[in-house]
Amino acid sequence: MAQQFDVVVIGSGPAGYIAAIKAAQLGKSTACIEKWVDHSGKTSLGGTCLNVGCIPSKALLESSEKFHQAQSEFSDHGINIKDVKIDVKAMMARKDAIVSNLTGGIAGLFKANGVTSIEGKGKLLANKKVEVTKHDGSVEVIEAGSVVLAMGSVPIEIPPTPLHKDIIVDSTGALAFDHVPKRVGVIGAGVIGLELGSVWNRVGSDVIILEALDKFLPFADQMIAKSALKVFEKQGLSIRLSCRVTGSEVKGKTVVVTYQDAEGEKTVEFDKLIVAVGRRPYTEGCFSDDSGVTMDERGFVFVDDQCRTTVPGVYAVGDLVRGPMLAHKGMEEGVMVAEIIAGHNAQMNYETIPSVIYTHPEISWVGKTEEQLKAEGVEFKVGKMPFAAVGRAMAQNDTTGMVKIIADAKTDRILGMHIFGLSSSELIAQGVISMEFAASAEDLQLTCFAHPTLSEAVHDAALAVDGKALHIPNPKRRK
Ligand code: FAD
Ligand code: AMP
Repeated sequence: MAQQFDVVVIGSGPAGYIAAIKAAQLGKSTACIEKWVDHSGKTSLGGTCLNVGCIPSKALLESSEKFHQAQSEFSDHGINIKDVKIDVKAMMARKDAIVSNLTGGIAGLFKANGVTSIEGKGKLLANKKVEVTKHDGSVEVIEAGSVVLAMGSVPIEIPPTPLHKDIIVDSTGALAFDHVPKRVGVIGAGVIGLELGSVWNRVGSDVIILEALDKFLPFADQMIAKSALKVFEKQGLSIRLSCRVTGSEVKGKTVVVTYQDAEGEKTVEFDKLIVAVGRRPYTEGCFSDDSGVTMDERGFVFVDDQCRTTVPGVYAVGDLVRGPMLAHKGMEEGVMVAEIIAGHNAQMNYETIPSVIYTHPEISWVGKTEEQLKAEGVEFKVGKMPFAAVGRAMAQNDTTGMVKIIADAKTDRILGMHIFGLSSSELIAQGVISMEFAASAEDLQLTCFAHPTLSEAVHDAALAVDGKALHIPNPKRRK
C-alpha cells in the first residue's frame, strides 16, 4: 500500500523545511522530499539558501570583509600587521563547515519534530498523489492530504554567456573559486552580483560589473542607490551601467566578453565571468500533465494571497511563487500554509518584508520608496540622519551612509525605512516592527534608544521627519 501522510512537502529550502516543521508541530503526519545531493553524494537539506545562497555568500562576505579591514583599516585603530594574506582554501573550508553544520541541523530538526525525510525527486500527480524518483532510479507513489510545493528557483542562464567549466559560472560557481582570480567580470548589478563582486574585489580581484539598465538598483530608494554607487566605486568595484552583454568567447583559461554600450560594441577579457542575471522558478519534471497546477506568464506557480494553487489542497510557497525571492518571505509563507492546513486562520503581510543587500555597508529597506509614493500620489514627509553624526559609528570607524524614514504627511504613519550603513540588516528590523505595529514617526520620536548605538540614527531620523533632530546641525524646523 502507498505511504500516506497528512502533508507532503516537495523541497526542503527555507520555504519547504519551515512548512514541514510547522505542519508536524501542529500535529500533522508530514514528509518532506528533497533531491539535493552534496559533493559526497549525500542528501543535503536546506535548499539554495543553506547550500549555495544566503549562508555561504554571507560566510564569504564576512571573511573577505575581515581581510579587507586587516589590510586597510586596522592601522586606524593602531593595530599594525605586516603581510596580511588571504588563504582561499581556508576561507572556503570555513564556509563549507558552516553549510554542513546548518544543513545537518535541518536533518536534526526534522528528526526532533517527527518529519519524515524522503530522498529523491518529487513530482505532483493528480489527486494529491506525489511520485518520488529515488536516486537509485526506483519510483514510489505517496498519498497526501495536502501538498506543499516548495521547489524553489535556479539561476537564469542567458544565451550570450553559456556556463563553461570554472570560467563562466553562476552564483554557485562563484562561491567556490579555489584562488583569487586576477580579473573577474560580473553580469548583473543586482543583489547577488553586488555581493559576489564585493567578495572577490575585497580579496584582490579586479572586478567589473556589467549592467544592462541605466539605473543602479532601480528598486531601491534612489538617493541611497546613488550614494551607494559612489561608495562601491571607491571600494574598487567598477560598475558599468547601460552595458548589455551580447556575447562571450572562451579562449584557453580566459573569456572575452562582448557588450554594447552607448558608444557601440566593446570587448573585455576576464579570468572568471559570473553570470548573475536573476533566478527563475524551478518546475521541470515536477508536475504530471493532469496535476491541475497552473503557472503565470513568467513561469511562477499561480497562487492566491494565501498561497493556494488552482488545485484544492495543493499550496505553493517561496521562490516558486510571486513576490520577492527571499528566504524569509518563503519561511513566512511556509508557516502560513501549515497553519491553514491545520485549519487555523492565517495570512501574511507582504507590505513589511525587509530587503537587504549585504555589501559594505549594507543597504536595507522596508516599505515604500519616495519614488513609489510619488508615483502613487501619496503625500509624505522625510527624515534623514547621517551616520557621520552618530558617536557609535565614529567609534566603530564606519560613518558611511544614513537612515531615512518616510512618513505619511497627513497621518504620520511610517511608510518606509531605508538604511545605508553598518549593520543595517539588523537595524532594519526596527522599521519592520514599526510598520507591523502601524507606528507613526512620533511613536519612534517618543521611544528611548540606548546610547551609544547605531540605532540612535533611527531615533534621530524619526525626529528629523518633523524637523526635530537633535544631532544634526540646523535641522529643517517645522513651525
Ligand atoms: P530553495 O531554497 O531554492 O529550495 C528548493 C529546494 O527544493 C531545493 O533544495 C531543491 O533541491 C528542492 N527541489 C526542487 N525540486 C524538487 C523536486 N521535484 N523534488 C525534490 N526536491 C526538489 N535570500 C535572502 O533572503 N537573503 C540572502 O542573503 C540571500 N542570499 C542569496 C545569495 C545567493 C548567492 C543566492 C543564489 C540566493 C540568495 N537568497 C537570499 C535567495 C534565497 O536563497 C532564496 O530566496 C531561498 O532559498 C528560496 O527558498 P525556497 O525554499 O523557495 O527554495
Ligand atoms: P537581479 O534580478 O536583482 O538578480 O539582477 C539581475 C540584473 O542583471 C538585472 O539588473 C538585469 O538588468 C541584469 N542583466 C540581465 N541580462 C543582462 C545582460 N545581458 N547584460 C547585462 N546585464 C544584464
